[in-house]
Amino acid sequence: MLKTPDPHEGILAIDTHVDIPWPTGPSPFADGARCVDLPKLKIGRIAGVCFVAYVPQFGRDAAGDAAAVARARAMLDAIAGMAPADGSGGVLAFTADAIEAAYAAGKTAIIPAIENGYAMAKDLSLLDEYAARGVRYITITHNGHNDLADAAIPRKDLNDVEAEHGGLSELGVAAVKRMNELGILPDISHTSKTTMLQVVKLSRVPVMASHSCMRALCDHPRNLDDEQLEALRGTGGLVQVTMVSNFLRPRARARDLTVADIADHIDYAVGKMGIDHVGIGSDFDGGGGVSDYRNAAQSPHLTEELARRGYDHAALSKIWGGNFLRLLRQAEAIKI
Ligand SMILES: [Zn+2]
Repeated sequence: MLKTPDPHEGILAIDTHVDIPWPTGPSPFADGARCVDLPKLKIGRIAGVCFVAYVPQFGRDAAGDAAAVARARAMLDAIAGMAPADGSGGVLAFTADAIEAAYAAGKTAIIPAIENGYAMAKDLSLLDEYAARGVRYITITHNGHNDLADAAIPRKDLNDVEAEHGGLSELGVAAVKRMNELGILPDISHTSKTTMLQVVKLSRVPVMASHSCMRALCDHPRNLDDEQLEALRGTGGLVQVTMVSNFLRPRARARDLTVADIADHIDYAVGKMGIDHVGIGSDFDGGGGVSDYRNAAQSPHLTEELARRGYDHAALSKIWGGNFLRLLRQAEAIKI
């Protein structure tokens, strides 16, 4: 009997946006309640994950800033903790080469990232510390404006006006420039369109949206419109399609959606931008997941859906990780 071809076979797959439970939660080493833990990554054959130290936006006074920095540091410690020195977990991978080496060795690559530039408060030197800890991208804002930039979703509870800086602040401009110098990718998921277009103009490295969907398919302020996709493509950048239900379909619930809904957004992005500019960032453990892709163990379901739509091995390899590795290498090449 002929073996059914397995489209996920031989693919170095990277999920570019996964949260961690905080401050407490199930262990990353056991197959438990988390959408993403090391056993599920093995089952789902995901080679690497960008785990984010997510800092929710709060006050920007000295106390708020100090708390944001403390939280980011502690979460980065927890992320590093997924790669214990005895080799029983994943391995920290700070470069594209290291991710490929981990894959070759059959180890899960743990790639640190930060969600919300609030984590650097008003102190550019913290970017150096984060880079030294291996952080490969920083999402410039979360929901709510910060000191760097305007967000796509202002926070009324924090007294946000519609647009505070008109895009990037002076500090935000300096932060993007410093990120470029340190090899940290600027991530424009969550930022306002004005911010996003300014980052695209300013950054010397192609720009990424680590977890976003297509506004043409689902009119949500967190999604990217065609002009934004065009701008990203112009930089050589990436949109990493996410699987948050109400970004995929208006007011949808996760249980009503399937991998076909995710694939629709991937198809659209590929149609607009080309196969070299699209990837996957699930937002698992941060709100991501659909009925037949509830956790990392089910990752091949999405690969199978894409294969059914005609994506071949080369295309699947680009979407699942090749494009992101290219971006990391471009960032590494201009690092000073
Ligand atoms: Zn997010």
